[in-house]
Amino acid sequence: MNTSEILLHFGEDISVLPKTFSNPIVQASNFQFPSVNAMREALAQEKEISVYSRGNNPTVRTLERKVAALEKTQDALAFGSGIAAITACILNSVGKDSHIVAIRESYSWARVFFDEYLPKFGIRTTLVSGSDLNEIAEAIQPNTSLIYVESPSSWFFNIQDLKGIASLAKPLGIRTICDNSFSSPLGQQPAEFGIDLVLHSASKYLGGHSDLVGGIVCGSQEIIADIFKKEYMNIGAIMAPQTAWLITRGLRTLEIRLERVSKSREIVQDFLEHHPKIERLIHPFHCGHPNQKLALKQMNSGNGLFSFFLKSQEIAEIEAFCNALNIFSLAVSWGGHESLIFPAITVSSKHDKGGLPINMVRAYIGLEDPQLLISDLQSGLEFISAT
Ligand SMILES: *Cc1c(COP(=O)(O)O)cnc(C)c1O
Repeated sequence: MNTSEILLHFGEDISVLPKTFSNPIVQASNFQFPSVNAMREALAQEKEISVYSRGNNPTVRTLERKVAALEKTQDALAFGSGIAAITACILNSVGKDSHIVAIRESYSWARVFFDEYLPKFGIRTTLVSGSDLNEIAEAIQPNTSLIYVESPSSWFFNIQDLKGIASLAKPLGIRTICDNSFSSPLGQQPAEFGIDLVLHSASKYLGGHSDLVGGIVCGSQEIIADIFKKEYMNIGAIMAPQTAWLITRGLRTLEIRLERVSKSREIVQDFLEHHPKIERLIHPFHCGHPNQKLALKQMNSGNGLFSFFLKSQEIAEIEAFCNALNIFSLAVSWGGHESLIFPAITVSSKHDKGGLPINMVRAYIGLEDPQLLISDLQSGLEFISAT
């Protein structure tokens, strides 16, 4: 046999692969066709038929179908990161000189996009707290094409009335987008309330093991097909097949991981709530939360993220508390197997808009035994002198 034929083609008949329980990773950029007619047909429906992996890859498509089904939407598209999904959806929802209404507490890089990037194209954003429907209604202008929310938001866990916002926007022809990363598709389905596009950073709960970065957007066939033709194919921030495979594997344990972290978070919160060195804590389901009732109506799972305030204004003490923790790691992000803390003192100098209080700490509860997490916090709290 010809050497080049052995190197390039010999022994690669994938049509004879045995059936497995694991979705195959189709590590391919390009797909072949048996005839001109088959190729012509595929090119006419590039979203549904694999022609080239920037458009459709079977491993990625499996994940998209699963997440769309979980969110109860017609379709979904996977991106290389959460922020790639966010910016693609925003760009699809605006034209030159459009106006956006967005919540002030949006994910930090979404805020950068609204504040610094979009104004280059004459696109202005009015920021609102999001907790009051009237405030949102008043922010709407004749050229408003998008209302962007994140409920709950990721430091203060502000809740927006998703049904109210959708009913406000629909008659005016305004698109609505909700970042649903906090709840995951199991904890809240914004499309059920009438939200047009639902976003996820798959780097968080969907992947669930702190070993990948990805994003997904879910919505109607019509809007998703439009994003596919424009931002998806043209900007090209797609997800790799290997990443889609890892997320599909992550989804198999999503339900039990979320049950575990929700329960553990409640146990850790109960400990902190009654501790004399803790000022207060924030979680959407907590009785002290201003929108607890709405949160309980919209969401059916509290998951692993919350914030608390130490009873100290001494940076040295707050640092000593954080540095003393052994089970909790100091890190950004969340949604993996491991417990994390993100103290506001690491960013508060950069957080100009309103500023995070220096004694604020965001905590993520992972899969560890909650008693282990409590004794870790106990040892850290020794460094706080408040009585
Ligand atoms: C992490 C995160 C994002 C960004 O996702 P990446 O995958 O990191 O790009 C967006 N929204 C929320 C709420 C997040 O927590």
